[in-house]
Amino acid sequence: MSKNLKIGIVGAGSAGLFAANELGKNLGNKVEIKLFEAGPSIENRNCPQKSEYECAQCDPCRIMSGVGGAGVWSSGILNLHKKIGGDLEALCNKVNLDVNQIINEIDSFFVANGAPNNVFDPYNNGEELIELKRKCAAVDIRFIPIKQRLLGSKNTPKVIKSIVNYLESNFDVEIIPDTKVLAFDKQKNLIFKQNRKQQFDFLLIAPGRWGMLWLAQQCDQLGLNTFYEPLDIGVRVEVPSIILENICENVQRDPKFHIITPTYNDFIRTFCVNHEGYVVKENYEEHIVGVNGHQISINGESETSNFAFLIRQTLTAPLEDTTEYGRSIAKQTSILGGYKPLLQTLGDLRKGHRSRQSLIERNPVQPTLNDYTPGDIAMAYPYRFVTDILEGLANLDKVIPGVNNNSTLIYAPEFKRSAKKVDVNEYLESRQVQNIFFAGDGAGFSRGIVAAAVSGIIAAKGIIKKIKN
Ligand SMILES: Cc1cc2nc3c(=O)[nH]c(=O)nc-3n(C[C@H](O)[C@H](O)[C@H](O)COP(=O)(O)OP(=O)(O)OC[C@H]3O[C@@H](n4cnc5c(N)ncnc54)[C@H](O)[C@@H]3O)c2cc1C
Repeated sequence: MSKNLKIGIVGAGSAGLFAANELGKNLGNKVEIKLFEAGPSIENRNCPQKSEYECAQCDPCRIMSGVGGAGVWSSGILNLHKKIGGDLEALCNKVNLDVNQIINEIDSFFVANGAPNNVFDPYNNGEELIELKRKCAAVDIRFIPIKQRLLGSKNTPKVIKSIVNYLESNFDVEIIPDTKVLAFDKQKNLIFKQNRKQQFDFLLIAPGRWGMLWLAQQCDQLGLNTFYEPLDIGVRVEVPSIILENICENVQRDPKFHIITPTYNDFIRTFCVNHEGYVVKENYEEHIVGVNGHQISINGESETSNFAFLIRQTLTAPLEDTTEYGRSIAKQTSILGGYKPLLQTLGDLRKGHRSRQSLIERNPVQPTLNDYTPGDIAMAYPYRFVTDILEGLANLDKVIPGVNNNSTLIYAPEFKRSAKKVDVNEYLESRQVQNIFFAGDGAGFSRGIVAAAVSGIIAAKGIIKKIKN
């Protein structure tokens, strides 16, 4: 085996950290691994979000960026399922890995680093699960039962800190925060400020959603093929937590409902359910804002629960560019909101009225996000998507009574831009340049903490295979 090979990883999110662990575990100190992270160290990660001004000052955005990746500021739900966050089964099958075993290993690593021991397993509560499935089946909704571990926003930073300590003390791993990689090239150089370069034997590029546009640009410049993936666009829905209590506490912490809408036959789903959580604002490039949800517990549990309600949209010629399409809708929404998310009651959206601040103030459901503009989402979103949202919520109400109330709060834009998928072989190595690997959400291989970790492990296994051969 070669000695002292250098491996450079871009991004210290779930994909990057799990790749580093896999490399360290299998190659020990025979490789030198450097993880470059544009955002701050785990100790320095905090999200002020006290005002729009302060929020706009965070570049990179503290929610999306920093050691631990986007997951650190999430409610930290580990979806322990081979079809959630991507088709993990297909990814693993291509390299003859047992997907369930890999998912268990990822879960165990989180537990070994302090993840809470409680797992929500819907099959433990058989009767409630059967009743929910019966209700769903009666109205053409598919419910996906998933075993989930809840890290919780409070624990996640501690778990990440423990992972960082473990990697740095057991292997030749150096995690370098506040260091943005400006470019990479085919000679496997990483390029930093002031044109400083470092050359590696292998590169693993795992920049997450925050870095996905950067990655797409880099691939274009280097002539690496990429493909558009479907766009997930919709709204974030906020309701009194009591409405979701039974399902979230007795069946599944982050319940996944899949619906086909009647008029357009579109696929719409619930995603990232934050029971007793908070809606948060995200900042993207070019003054584009977005919304997300989490469960920061500093203020305790909230009286509301929120979830993303997302339509999946594929585009065909002449416009296949789902990233640009999603961005144009998000930009239009951001402009209409004066660079704040739009907030509307469902009643107003249904009636075609703009929501006003006075109405929001007396609405039975109070927003957990302060930094919003009351508005009319129908001014920003295509008719098709508004129809999908209204029809989808009307249907979901048959399973979760109350979600279709006039007082339900709707925030926009909520979008999960899919990264352009990089053209890779089964080990996620570029088909065009040897020894450059890709993983995680930013390269189009995952949409979740566990899924990103799976892709990081597969890429690491590819590097290990090459080194050992
Ligand atoms: C608010 C929120 C809530 C979420 N909740 C959940 C949840 O409960 N469960 C779940 O499974 N998923 C959740 N997700 C999604 C989950 O966080 C991501 O799917 C996961 O973190 C992806 O891992 P990754 O390693 O691919 O990317 P990331 O975790 O995004 O990490 C990539 C890192 O790369 C860094 N980076 C990017 N470009 C560069 C560059 N040029 N140079 C150096 N560094 C760079 C970024 O700063 C970032 O820290 C949530 C996301 C958010 C934002």
